[in-house]
Amino acid sequence: MTKHRILVLGGTTEAKALAGRLAGRADFDITLSLAGRTLDPRPQPVQTRIGGFGGADGLARYLKDEKIDLLIDATHPFAAQISRNAAEAAGKTGTPIFALRRPAWQRQDGDHWTSVTSMEEAVNALPIEKSTVFLAIGRQEAGAFSARPEHAYLVRSVDPVEPPLAVPEARYLLACGPFALEDELHLLQSEKIGLIVAKNSGGSATYSKLEAARKLGIPVIMIERQAPPGIAEAGSVEAALPLIDHLLSPARKRGE
Ligand code: NAP
Repeated sequence: MTKHRILVLGGTTEAKALAGRLAGRADFDITLSLAGRTLDPRPQPVQTRIGGFGGADGLARYLKDEKIDLLIDATHPFAAQISRNAAEAAGKTGTPIFALRRPAWQRQDGDHWTSVTSMEEAVNALPIEKSTVFLAIGRQEAGAFSARPEHAYLVRSVDPVEPPLAVPEARYLLACGPFALEDELHLLQSEKIGLIVAKNSGGSATYSKLEAARKLGIPVIMIERQAPPGIAEAGSVEAALPLIDHLLSPARKRGE
């Protein structure tokens, strides 16, 4: 049987879950690609390759060399560069592509969100008066808050923030979701958090901090996503499965 070769660009819970669902298909040959940012990546259900491709051209070369039949961009909604590269490489090589992307969180009654479009805007949106700020934005861009040393910070990330923030008051919490609402309520109260900075990542694993903020009346600076490249999207693993079969169907390949 000729197998369909599928490359899943990962680094998310959804990518792993999708790979797990596809792993049992005898007609699929799945490779999951990881950037290599996480120091101790979780075991994955399919073969993995780790590290960048060398831009859109490098990815296009990989798609050709490896005879990839379908590219699935299941990267994090804030991993904008690899998503742009994926769309460009798929376009150049004529490889079918879609994105598995969780829908963004929507503001609810009782939320006190200030929406911004970049980390720089988030830094500028901090209040003048001193606050204890909970940074729930991952480690890669936390350093931007060194520009506001008048605040105290609690920084939560999967891997250590290196170098640490150049501010007098910062504490670091290494933790990996999912996070329970009770635990988030306890954390925000015990740490006397006055403000949260978050990325609008979507999904359920890290939503509880926003529910906790709503209950406690804590304001949130919400960094919204950049517009994604204009390719087909599935919002969940369930929605992705029929799309995969459709994109690989012989009728579609014949252009019917
Ligand atoms: P990014 O800025 O969009 O990508 C930067 C470069 O990293 C890309 O140009 C590519 O290098 C390489 N890369 C990214 N994802 C890759 C993948 N899945 N496989 C191979 N190479 C990849 O990405 P990022 O924001 O640094 O995110 C890196 C990884 O962490 C992604 O896998 C993403 O899903 C995951 N992640 C990101 C966030 C976030 O908030 N940004 C949160 C959770 C998880 P080349 O140009 O050399 O190909």
